[in-house]
Amino acid sequence: MTDTPRRPDERKSPRLRELATLPVFFKLAGRRVVLAGGSEGIAWKAELISAAGAQVDVFAPHPSGVLVALAADVANVTIHPRTWEASDLPGAALAIGDAGDEPEALAFRGAAKAAGVPVNVVDAPAFCDFQFGSIVERSPVVVAISTDGAAPVFGQELRTRIETLMPDGMRHWARAAKLWRPAVQALKLGFRERRAFWETFTKLAFANLERQPTDADRADLLAGLSFDRAPDKKLGSVALVGAGPGDPELLTLKAVRVLQSADVVLFDDLVSPQTVNLARREATRITVGKRGYKPSCTQEEITSMLLSLAREGKRVVRLKGGDPMIFGRANEELSELRAAGIAVEVVPGVTSASAAAASVGQSLTERDVARRLQFITAHARDGKLPTDLDWRALADPRATTVVYMGLGTFPLLAARLMAEGLPGSTPAVMVERATWADEKQTRSTLADLSASIASERPRGPAVILIGEAFARST
Ligand code: SAH
Repeated sequence: MTDTPRRPDERKSPRLRELATLPVFFKLAGRRVVLAGGSEGIAWKAELISAAGAQVDVFAPHPSGVLVALAADVANVTIHPRTWEASDLPGAALAIGDAGDEPEALAFRGAAKAAGVPVNVVDAPAFCDFQFGSIVERSPVVVAISTDGAAPVFGQELRTRIETLMPDGMRHWARAAKLWRPAVQALKLGFRERRAFWETFTKLAFANLERQPTDADRADLLAGLSFDRAPDKKLGSVALVGAGPGDPELLTLKAVRVLQSADVVLFDDLVSPQTVNLARREATRITVGKRGYKPSCTQEEITSMLLSLAREGKRVVRLKGGDPMIFGRANEELSELRAAGIAVEVVPGVTSASAAAASVGQSLTERDVARRLQFITAHARDGKLPTDLDWRALADPRATTVVYMGLGTFPLLAARLMAEGLPGSTPAVMVERATWADEKQTRSTLADLSASIASERPRGPAVILIGEAFARST
């Protein structure tokens, strides 16, 4: 033996790391499973196991109400109102017991082992041959999660995340795959063609999880038409997706799903890197930073990029800060894409005004004080304060006004509002980088906020909330 280190490429083939448990998917249809105990925990296991098609024999001298209700509801659950006996176990596929104490747990485990039946004792991992994980059910697709008892809450959170990536419609496509399989086999395709068929099927499924597969899909796929209509030969699609104010947790479930099936993601600087990271790993990410007064991509360039990517057959996601339908020039993109016959959809998002109000902890509306809510942009095409704003409406002391893109022109806006009659004492709150880690709030008044903006030079983006609804509560 020499101790010359091996170069990585000389290492032995990589092996699996140690597995805490082996996940297996056990067929229980028509088999018998023995459950011992009358608790609600046993009732839940009985329901799970009967859903897997087993004949469930529950031995319980004192069954809980939930268990009795289950047995009344589900044909394959039978309650035997007595204590379990060793003779109940032979022939069972699995045994699950809720033991009152350790001797009982030991006895149950011993009887199951003697009968050669794998055993689980509820809440006693040391007595278990197998454990139950958290489940995401889109049957026939089933995902099971185990932390080997290390952290059940961690496992549940993971389950929630996986749930969001698996729309319910997934089950229909997986069922269709099962049903259509014989017809595909009958075609006697070679390996490569068969593989291509299922790849096309899978692409179609993942692009259409929100709808059920149809006979037309089946006919198309079987006739091989889909080979000619491979995604790179047909038109792609564009989704304008609201990325929210910054915190990725404020994305909608739909936004996450769309991101997860994107081929290309175009995003501007207002979108946080964590949000962009939620896109499918293989997706191409393109920044089209278009912020403030120095556009790095013009709107025309962005629109033409969307058009050409969609024409190449790509599923394009255009991530826009906040809600795409608020001060995001969405109509320009939508109308050109529609005119080109490209499928477009819009996924709404949390707009900055909502995020700022949540951060400030005060409602944008308030009975008697603010019955009207108006969103304005203080940034006209030329970068100046727009001249065509409705000044009477903005000077209404009983309205809340949220100013977007207002940092540069706020002094002019404030002066004009005061000249139109809105008191200088009206509360004005600036919320910079709402929901980002470095969010900042500045509480002031219409008369004084300009001075803070001048001295603090906010980095933005920021919204300014104006109105009596933001009076400090006493
Ligand atoms: N569609 C976006 C608005 C785009 S216009 C939305 O619905 O929020 C850009 C302006 O949005 C910025 O000038 C700023 O006024 C505001 N903005 C965007 N993100 C923000 C954030 N995280 N905090 C505060 N204001 C924000």
